[in-house]
Amino acid sequence: MTVPHPNDPSLRSFVPVNATSDFPIQNLPYGVFSTAALPAPRVGVAIGDYVLDLWELEQDCRLDVGPLGVFSTPSLNAFMALGPKVWSRTRARISELLRHDNPELRDNKELRRRALVPMADVKLHLPIAVAGYTDFYSSKEHATNVGVMFRGKGNALQPNWLHMPIGYNGRASTVVVSGTKVRRPRGQLKPSNAEIPSFGPCKRLDFELEMGAVIGQPSPMGEMLTEAQAQDMIFGFVLLNDWSARDIQQWEYVPLGPFQGKAFATSISPWVVTREALEPFRLHGPKQDPAPLPYLRQAQPNNYDLKLDVGLRAASMNDAVYICHTNFKYMYWSSVQQLVHHASSGCAMNVGDLLGSGTISGPEKSQRGSLLEISWNGTEPMELASGMKRTFLEDGDSLVMRGWCQGDGYRVGFGEVEGTIVPAD
Ligand code: CA
Repeated sequence: MTVPHPNDPSLRSFVPVNATSDFPIQNLPYGVFSTAALPAPRVGVAIGDYVLDLWELEQDCRLDVGPLGVFSTPSLNAFMALGPKVWSRTRARISELLRHDNPELRDNKELRRRALVPMADVKLHLPIAVAGYTDFYSSKEHATNVGVMFRGKGNALQPNWLHMPIGYNGRASTVVVSGTKVRRPRGQLKPSNAEIPSFGPCKRLDFELEMGAVIGQPSPMGEMLTEAQAQDMIFGFVLLNDWSARDIQQWEYVPLGPFQGKAFATSISPWVVTREALEPFRLHGPKQDPAPLPYLRQAQPNNYDLKLDVGLRAASMNDAVYICHTNFKYMYWSSVQQLVHHASSGCAMNVGDLLGSGTISGPEKSQRGSLLEISWNGTEPMELASGMKRTFLEDGDSLVMRGWCQGDGYRVGFGEVEGTIVPAD
């Protein structure tokens, strides 16, 4: 009997999963969760409306990854450190255990009771111990929009932009999981009509729609990476909101780039969708012209057909209004190119590094991935509900991002990343 690949669209689980669920058997994203009964955070996999407790399966000798205990830790780092062969083997085994035609877990009532926890009963934690956080700027549409706003149409893209993925080193200390409230940052502000700066709450608080690549393997200091090595190092992806204080950023960014305007919070989704699960949705990115320098050239399709939505809900509203619909496929520089470039100077990469893609905007107006672009630097307020307008985020506003790859009759989804703004004091 040939064993079907875990990405096979015909696979079904004995756990009921409807066609619009983000978590069918073809996905199997990893996260860290706890329950009231068992408050120690541990590693699980999402399947339909349930979380599969990998620690329970390991204790019951149903799952053997080698070293014991990697699933009883409060992050995916120990598991990721085992490398791509173990990731692949483990995912295949989990898929096998969840299949509708495998009685092993399906008919073991006692193990099912312990290992399948209703999603409604779990608390989800930050899935990785973030080693380093780097944020890129790799959407040509976003960089062009911002460039036109601040420098005019003539020189919207800086001369370096088409030659390398532009990025900066952000803060790992304030990467938080979806659902964490975000306090309005304070900082130095200097409106153009002010003589001197003042210190106070940010008045132009924004989101940035991004994907985060989770690095699961290290690279040594002093060594460059090939395209294939970089691919192998990427464990998976999360949704990422790179909260941005535009007014703080605008005054501080010369000459070293973003600092406090970006350092106060970065939110990520709780489920890490593996690179392997996204494999069927790979495609080539936009044609790169001029051709990148040889070390940045890629032969493989390293972009993904991944739909993205952004919803905004004011405190007085029941439901979010969707203000952006775009796709990860538009990115000019891929995560693989970003990683190759990151290591190219000899910079060591670590297990648990997080690479933000940069704001994902598309060619259409409805595909702009930040309020800076949607409100065109505050000059075109957006109507959120009747009589309610927004240029930037207000206290009590809740921002929700969703993302998924659409298969034939199923979707490989990321769930959501949500954050609500609370006042500065
Ligand atoms: Ca960003």
